[in-house]
Order: sequence, then structure tokens, then C-alpha cells
Amino acid sequence: MRPFAFARADSVERALECRRGEPTGAFVAGGTTLLDLVKLDVMRPARVIDINALPLKDVERLHDDRLRIGALVTNTDLAYHPDVLADHPLLSQAILAGASSQVRNMATVGGNLMQRTRCPYFRDPTAACNKREPGSGCDALTGVNRMHAVLGGSDRCVAVHPSDMCVALAAIGATLSLQGPNGEREVDVADFHRLPGATPHLEHELGDELIVAVTLAPPLKPLGAAYVKLRDRASYEFALASAGAMLSLDEDLIGEQRLPLGGVATKPWRCHAAEALLAGKRADTAAFEEAADLALADAAPLAHNAFKIPLARQAIVRALRDAARAHREDDT
Ligand SMILES: Cc1cc2nc3c(=O)[nH]c(=O)nc-3n(C[C@H](O)[C@H](O)[C@H](O)COP(=O)(O)OP(=O)(O)OC[C@H]3O[C@@H](n4cnc5c(N)ncnc54)[C@H](O)[C@@H]3O)c2cc1C
Repeated sequence: MRPFAFARADSVERALECRRGEPTGAFVAGGTTLLDLVKLDVMRPARVIDINALPLKDVERLHDDRLRIGALVTNTDLAYHPDVLADHPLLSQAILAGASSQVRNMATVGGNLMQRTRCPYFRDPTAACNKREPGSGCDALTGVNRMHAVLGGSDRCVAVHPSDMCVALAAIGATLSLQGPNGEREVDVADFHRLPGATPHLEHELGDELIVAVTLAPPLKPLGAAYVKLRDRASYEFALASAGAMLSLDEDLIGEQRLPLGGVATKPWRCHAAEALLAGKRADTAAFEEAADLALADAAPLAHNAFKIPLARQAIVRALRDAARAHREDDT
């Protein structure tokens, strides 16, 4: 492991000051991504700034019913927060489908948003990877690409965005508060993660800034929600394909609908066309299968991951069916 300077910040201003003038500086929160990648020699921060003492650990209900979540709230605390369980069940389900309880106890909201891909070529400094080393090529395109993306990839990168939490945020809608040397700004979560295109090393909209909070859109009510995650093992494993569904029904006709995917795309993926197709339809298997087919119409398989397309189709149909069932049960 390469040596790095270490600083502990006790305020947001101090954290930004420690980071200033150090392009490879990195904040550390739970450390569950950063420390692995430093040990693997994938991330090489010259300075690591511990932000755990910052006052960013509260969940606050705003006057307009939005929830403002501090960037240091742990994944466990968020998943079990009473307001999240009551108003945003998809977020709770998605977080609890991820990692293990030990990892979730350490992992934070800010770190989860910023976690890096699990592509094995990205995590191996001897492999070609445009994301890690711009211009070096992409061994995943011709190598073993079973885990890789079928949506949103480019001829430079097909690495999957690994987060479960971000799939739920894509459905719910959220604003990220980013604090930088010139003050605070807000970015819609849908615009935060970038598609790889020709610049896969540019993964998100964060500049020389700290994520200080995530504010969820007001809850949709009444609502049924379900997160279905399909993976190689039942726990402690990333998604091969996941789908989150949020539905409201009126006499069994679909009103509000949200359909994001995980495990199959290069960023948290929202299926807008499939959502539009569902609006006003009867909530039955035929409609869910039609939506799933549309959601995956542009999927482009690589040599080893064509199986992800029928897998994601199953995840979508099950998530929509379970969300509709949850809504009906809630209604009775
Ligand atoms: C064994 C294992 C299994 C896992 N399985 C899953 C899974 O199934 N699903 C899933 O979604 N995730 C999974 N994860 C990933 C886990 O969710 C992330 O590692 C975690 O959310 C990262 O949060 P952290 O606080 O530990 O981040 P850190 O490791 O501290 O930081 C990660 C990155 O975020 C940056 N960062 C942290 N906080 C901020 C901030 N406030 N502002 C700006 N930058 C910041 C850091 O500089 C660093 O680059 C798994 C991880 C492990 C180790």
C-alpha cells in the first residue's frame, strides 16, 4: 500500500480546506470502498481526510414533507429510520438487499453514492481499464464480461454501477447538496452519475466538493413498492439484475409508476418509456411483461452476459407484481 497523508476534519469548511490543492485527495467515511481500493492500488490518494466527525448524521423532515438525509447517515440507520420505512419502503428494501449488516453499519449515504464499480478489470491494476487509466483500453469488452452492463455501455466501458441504494433514489427522486469552496449547490440525483461514453473516468458531477446531504422528493401516496434483486448468492453479493417498482393503483388501473433497474446498466437506470406504457393500464402480468420488454428493448449483450436480459425481465415483472400486491394489501 502506498503511504498517504491523513487528516481529521471537524467541520465541512475544514474538510474542504484539507482537500484544497490536492487533486488526488479523498474523503473517507465508512471506508468500505475506499480502503479496499487503496489496498488494491486502484485509488492512490496522496491525502485522506476523515469526515466522520462532521455534523452530517441527521435525518430531518422538512416542512414540505421531504426528508433531508445527512451524508454520514449509515445505510443501516437509513434503512430502519421510521420515516423511511413509512414513506419510502423501496429505499429501505433496496439498502437491505445490499452487502451485509456489518458493511451496512459502516457504509454511509455519501459513500454509497460515490462507490466505484465492481468490474474485476477496474479492480486489477494490471488490466486495461479506461475508467482507471484513461486511454488504456477495456479488457472487459473482450474478456470475461458476465457481470457487465447491457444498458448504457460504450466502446470504452461496460462497467456496471453497483449500488442498490441509488436504484431506489432514481425511483423516488432526490436532490444532492454539494458543498464546495464556493458554496453549496444542488444536483438532481438523475444527473449525478454519468454514462461512460468516451470518458468513463468521469463518473459523476462532483467537483472539488463534499456531498453534505440527500433530500428525497415528497412521498407518493398511496403506493406499493418492491425491490427484487437477483444475484449469484442470497446475501453479501452484488446484483446481476435488480428492479425497483413503485405503483399507485386506482380500481386496479395504474396511476403513478416508477421503474428503475440495477445490476444491468452503467448508471442507476430509470425506464421512462416503460413507465409511460404502464400509465393507465390494468395492473396485470400482461402489462408488466410488455413494460419489461420495452425496458430492455435497447439492451446490448456482450459475449457472456446475454442471460442478464431474461433475468432482468423476470426481476421487472416480479417487482411490478409485488408492488401491485403491496398496494392492494395496503388498501384493504
Ligand atoms: C463486501 C462488500 C459487499 C458489498 N455489497 C454491496 C451491495 O450488494 N450493494 C451495494 O449497493 N453496495 C454494496 N457494497 C458497497 C457499499 O455499499 C459501499 O462500499 C458503501 O456504501 C460505501 O460507503 P462508505 O461510507 O464506506 O464509503 P467510503 O469507502 O468511505 O468512500 C467511498 C468513496 O466515496 C467518497 N465519499 C465518501 N463520502 C463522501 C462525501 N460525503 N462526499 C464526497 N465523497 C465522499 C470517498 O472519497 C470514496 O471515494 C459492498 C461493499 C463491500 C465491501
